[in-house]
Amino acid sequence: MTRDRARASRDSGGMSPAISRQASGAARTRQSEVLRLQGLAGNSAVTGMLTLQGDAATVTPDSPASTKANPDPLAVVAAAFPTAMAIAGQLEPILRLAGADLAPLAIGALVANGFRDESKLTDVAFWLHHPELSGEALKPGLPGYPSLAKDWIDLRTSVVRPALEVRDASPEVVQSHPAPGEQQPAATSGSDDFVKDWARSTLELLPRSQREKFESIEWGPLDFPGTTVAIKGLKADALDWYLKQPNVVQKDGKEGPYLTSSNQDAAKALFLALSQVRPGGGERRVNINDSAVIPEEAFRSDPTEFYDYVTSQLEGIPGQTDIQMNSEAATKFAEMRGAAKAEGVPLVALNAFRPLAHEMKAEKAAGNRNAVGGISHLIGLAVDVKLHIDKKRDPDVVETGTGNFNKMLNMLESPIYKWIFMNGSRFGFYQYRQEPWHWEYNPEGFRDRFYAGAPNLKEKTEAVLEAARPKKRKK
Ligand SMILES: [Zn+2]
Repeated sequence: MTRDRARASRDSGGMSPAISRQASGAARTRQSEVLRLQGLAGNSAVTGMLTLQGDAATVTPDSPASTKANPDPLAVVAAAFPTAMAIAGQLEPILRLAGADLAPLAIGALVANGFRDESKLTDVAFWLHHPELSGEALKPGLPGYPSLAKDWIDLRTSVVRPALEVRDASPEVVQSHPAPGEQQPAATSGSDDFVKDWARSTLELLPRSQREKFESIEWGPLDFPGTTVAIKGLKADALDWYLKQPNVVQKDGKEGPYLTSSNQDAAKALFLALSQVRPGGGERRVNINDSAVIPEEAFRSDPTEFYDYVTSQLEGIPGQTDIQMNSEAATKFAEMRGAAKAEGVPLVALNAFRPLAHEMKAEKAAGNRNAVGGISHLIGLAVDVKLHIDKKRDPDVVETGTGNFNKMLNMLESPIYKWIFMNGSRFGFYQYRQEPWHWEYNPEGFRDRFYAGAPNLKEKTEAVLEAARPKKRKK
């Protein structure tokens, strides 16, 4: 299992690597595959998942028509690898092939001659597909940037990485010395702008050994911790599709057989590792652990009084006044949104405070309170943020859903997510580690300010927290 395969299966929304590896016409193949699967889908989860794949396929037309004549393909290669002109005689016949998708051929020839910079190779493939952009760096300011960036990523996955992988795997080929002037492969690709470049993932922030471990895992659609799909009601072909996905296993439960993943512990470990490198510290949950502003147990001891106090503290988020939060949190959210905007990142709240009636309904529907994140939204201290910028064009990112784990990995590449990951704690916001969209307001010292108008509730809270602390032994 290699990192390329992991990427390939993920970028195609969890479909077979074989499909996404076909460079030419891959998008069309994916689309018809998606339509076929949509027709077969036996439940709403599958339908939702596949609809999203449909979006992704339609924004990446891999049209051979875009590889039109101008400019000289040799000049395209020279723009990325000036020293490749030393093998121009070898490249030229390949690049003169009319009507073919030149990218895989050109990349194969370059790799075979020792050019291994993944990022530059992807530039060549990209420029062959978009001749009008030849020699230009892919910058967020370009018109149509999100879909161009996705195209770039798709080419890296379907053309460049397989070419590099084949080279790595061929024992008969003597590992060639780097070509003159060739740099070490870049650790990351695309532009230098970590936040705005969709080609860069939050995974980059992990220590190298951890990063490599997680990148080498072949993730599957059911890897999110706790995900199960009842087999009852699934159509035969949908079941068949699931069973072909990475890590999917069948188990027997009280309510009948169901599908789950054997890889959920790895997903948990990934979330934990990311929380450990988040600037400003990991989690500071508002409803559990020693950081709690209102521990679940305290709230339950007197729900009416706590809820009345919570609602007396609510205020609309400035600029998004239909969404309410604790007043200090609302002010700080607006401040954070302004700071993001100043850096060109559109940070928007989707929802924050949720009334008791809403949460009880959600809890009943989900069957348990944990599924709705405990009381964090109910007490006005959690906010769900939008992670996509343009739903039609961005890589598949749909926040507030844990249905397909591959979407989670896409979220780690969202410019909005990367911005709030780097900056959230400066404004007092900390992520619940398993949900990239869910942020809780809980800066150091906040609990004292929160309870300024309710000393009796503060007392109840502190009693619960104190009882949960490890006892100090007296000698
Ligand atoms: Zn949430």
